[in-house]
Amino acid sequence: MSRREFLRGVVGALVASATSMGRSRAEGGAGERFEIVKSDDEWRRALSAGQYAVLREGDTERARSSPLDEERRPGVYRCAGCDLPVFSSQTKFDSGTGWPSFWVAIDGAVRTRQEGIRFFIPATEVHCRRCGSHLGHVFGDGPAPTHLRYCINGIALRFEPRPTPSAGG
Ligand SMILES: [Zn+2]
Repeated sequence: MSRREFLRGVVGALVASATSMGRSRAEGGAGERFEIVKSDDEWRRALSAGQYAVLREGDTERARSSPLDEERRPGVYRCAGCDLPVFSSQTKFDSGTGWPSFWVAIDGAVRTRQEGIRFFIPATEVHCRRCGSHLGHVFGDGPAPTHLRYCINGIALRFEPRPTPSAGG
């Protein structure tokens, strides 16, 4: 192999890897398929303006703006877009950030995608497995046993308290 052929090979490999990186990033969201698919109009009708901004446009609610940040009752947190149970009160913890925080999601309920750098920290976006709605982000500074911190917008969740056992039951 001549030096020129070698260089051409190296440049080719670099271009190929740069291209595939760009492609995978661009297709990270668009290429994913979801069970529940709605038109933009349908989403706007189904959600409040605040919910739409977070769930469908990836917005982040103001810290401490959701009553679910302080929610302590046992129960299940459902995706506000499609009602899929996504988090349990059993894995909720007080992160002090002002957003509902969990150390794990309900098995198979959410998916993640790399989003680049957010506030100087590599951010991983979290969305609902069933309808693709944006829920929040996950960071690697949570408590044991997972050491993950799912930082979730309260407005993206619907809390369903566990029914209290009836007396004598
Ligand atoms: Zn959903």
